[in-house]
Amino acid sequence: MSYVASSSRYEKMIYRRSGNSGLKLPVISLGLWHNWGEVDIFENGRSMVLRAFDLGITHFDLANNYGPPYGAAEENLGRILRKDFNNYRDELVISTKAGWDMWPGPYGNFGSRKYLIASLDQSLSRMGLDYVDIFYHHRPDPETPLEETMGALADIVRFGKALYVGISQYSPLQTKKAVNILKTLSTKCLIHQPNYNFFDRWIEKDLLDVLKEQGMGCIVFSPLAQGLLTDKYLNGIPPDSRAAKRDSFLKPDDITEEKLNQVKKLNDLALERGQTLAQMAIAWILRMPTITSALIGASRVDQIEEIVDSLKNLEFTAEELSAIDKIL
Ligand code: NDP
Repeated sequence: MSYVASSSRYEKMIYRRSGNSGLKLPVISLGLWHNWGEVDIFENGRSMVLRAFDLGITHFDLANNYGPPYGAAEENLGRILRKDFNNYRDELVISTKAGWDMWPGPYGNFGSRKYLIASLDQSLSRMGLDYVDIFYHHRPDPETPLEETMGALADIVRFGKALYVGISQYSPLQTKKAVNILKTLSTKCLIHQPNYNFFDRWIEKDLLDVLKEQGMGCIVFSPLAQGLLTDKYLNGIPPDSRAAKRDSFLKPDDITEEKLNQVKKLNDLALERGQTLAQMAIAWILRMPTITSALIGASRVDQIEEIVDSLKNLEFTAEELSAIDKIL
């Protein structure tokens, strides 16, 4: 069956400008880190991407090594782009990244010009695209001069292989340095992609101020702490959950008694607000205007629908915010 996008797709979603750029992103974006590998059911991934787009999620986030095996998520999205999104490319923001290990040898990891440009060429070919909308350096490289890494990003924009560039996992100081180098190359650093959720609030200390100062956007990954910030682990580890899967980044040992106690209290508070915990976790992230988008993952269509419904209540009272701080 050929796909036709819902005519109501722009009715529910909210779009925020990424810093002071011209690009608006949906406040909820979908990442293809887990559940889009060769080991996963393609039709499930396809249904999630199509439903997300029908709900106004225009932004899909990838990386060269999402799978398994590495590259499989880009290949799977490529199939969807060709089959279903052929008429919608200009309504989509597709991002990918390079910075972690991708292929063997000295040229398939970190931040050299050699690696970044070759990796993006591979990503474009897997997805069947002429360009991505955003290309990220996935993590800082302790050895390659930042001038070389940022020079490669600037050239990638100049070559037309990406419309914008961003950085991920950079500290506030590294961010300032990277942005300043890019400025000398007349290239804007569109956005930073850090982790942020109830359990991990490091960006509140300095990073958000730096991003605001620099006019950059912020898209936060793992806003649900990989699923921990939902009610799913309150009665044990469900067999179909991320924590139960082999080779997953969420280990059963990460689900500690202390965390579960906090989750239980947060869950009670969410229910008092008339939301699920997952919805409150997303609404809480979006309380700050410097945050452009919450970058979620999902394993089922109904999870995406539930998250989009968090937009029905984004307001927090001062009492609720202080109750959350107390729990954490
Ligand atoms: P989340 O914290 O949103 O976790 C997603 C997982 O939570 C889902 O796969 C699902 O797990 C569970 N979940 C989601 N919605 C619900 C719900 N409504 N009810 C119950 N459980 C739910 O994000 P991710 O950790 O997946 O990261 C999101 C994206 O961020 C990635 O896809 C990637 O694009 C990006 N990322 C970037 C990184 C970087 O270094 N820049 C690093 C990591 C991620 P389950 O399988 O248990 O159902």
